[in-house]
Amino acid sequence: MTQTVNSELISVGTELLLGEITDTNSVFLARFLRDYGINVLYMTSVGDNRARIAQTVRMAMARSNIVIMCGGLGPTVDDMTREAVADATDRGLEFHDYLYAQIAERFRSFHASMSQNNRRQAYVPAGAIVLENAVGTAPGFAVEHNGSLVVALPGVPREMKFLMNGKVLPLLKSRYDLSVILPRVLHTAGIGESMLDEVIGSELLECENPTVGLAAHNGQVDVRITAKAATRAAAEAMIEAVETDLRQRIGRYVYGVDGETLAGVLHKRLEQHRVGVSLVECGIGGLLNELGTDVVDRAAYPSAAALIDGLSDLEDTSSRGVAEAVGRTLIGKGENRAYVVVVTAEDVDEASDQQPGTTVLVSYGERTRSRSYGFGARSELIRNWVETWSMAQLWWMIEEQAAHA
Ligand code: ATP
Ligand code: MG
Repeated sequence: MTQTVNSELISVGTELLLGEITDTNSVFLARFLRDYGINVLYMTSVGDNRARIAQTVRMAMARSNIVIMCGGLGPTVDDMTREAVADATDRGLEFHDYLYAQIAERFRSFHASMSQNNRRQAYVPAGAIVLENAVGTAPGFAVEHNGSLVVALPGVPREMKFLMNGKVLPLLKSRYDLSVILPRVLHTAGIGESMLDEVIGSELLECENPTVGLAAHNGQVDVRITAKAATRAAAEAMIEAVETDLRQRIGRYVYGVDGETLAGVLHKRLEQHRVGVSLVECGIGGLLNELGTDVVDRAAYPSAAALIDGLSDLEDTSSRGVAEAVGRTLIGKGENRAYVVVVTAEDVDEASDQQPGTTVLVSYGERTRSRSYGFGARSELIRNWVETWSMAQLWWMIEEQAAHA
């Protein structure tokens, strides 16, 4: 099990609150943490005020495992982060000779004179881990307090990034089981679960990382790939390799990935190929609303009986019999038309002992397919099943036709 690690960011500097600079450090940090699977729950900016910074740090520690701060580590008296973190974590500051020596050495190498103020930068909160800064004068530090880790980094973006990569990341890795779990879902239509299972094959389905699993819902099947890796980039690469492999086997059935919906993808296809859908609803209404009236013409009949009147000599009055009869009178009557006929037989003939049942028939080009369900319009389920199944069939038939055109 990967533990959940929550974090938050605090940027320090009155310039931020005056709107003089943009908090690009927090943008960088948020992406950085996301890429390592660490949730960022809050971002706060606070001015150069010791009490307010300390209060912000206390609040952050109370709700997050990791608090990452930037700014306010400079040499001047308005750089308050050191003192404020010491206050918030109930400790004083501690002077490190070796830090002072490093700072002095840096000034010497630049032939710059060091002010007495720079001495301040050799102080860190007592017991803190020092994050030595090879690209600037202000070292960062990390303090552990009541189960939270507070990390303070310089505000200069280059220095902040340098320390984040070189010092903070190894520190976080040593403390937390960091790993990114990334899913990708391939949505399929036109193929059943057991066929998919067979085509994909046990080698892929039994893989441990990434895992590949199937989930069927009313007329379509999702193939879920889940990868676990140290970084988002590594997880993405793993997913990509498996996805390529999967698409070689089942690519023709994949209508979309992740957030894409069957209705959305089908709508696009219908527009693209200029195909209109004639929908006949009988004893059930309001189907395929998601597809939009721009591509669907709807004819609704209150009951099957209302239709059967116009269909002479019909022997089979089951939902299937009626749907097929409607289909025969309709199909092939229009150019670039697809047909969806839905008949629910709840009240085909109240007097007979006819079972309620629903048949959906989909036709496009050379193909016609139908499917019957053993429940009627009063069932909550039927709408979902009929809609998904008919959209899946339509999508599939249009793709097939386009592939052979
Ligand atoms: P130094 O020790 O180098 O003085 P510091 O820790 O005191 O750094 P600040 O004085 O707060 O950091 O900021 C230094 C400069 O870094 C700012 O003038 C600004 O240009 C940039 N900076 C600070 N904070 C941010 C931020 N959150 N986003 C982007 N840039 C920032
Ligand atoms: Mg400063």
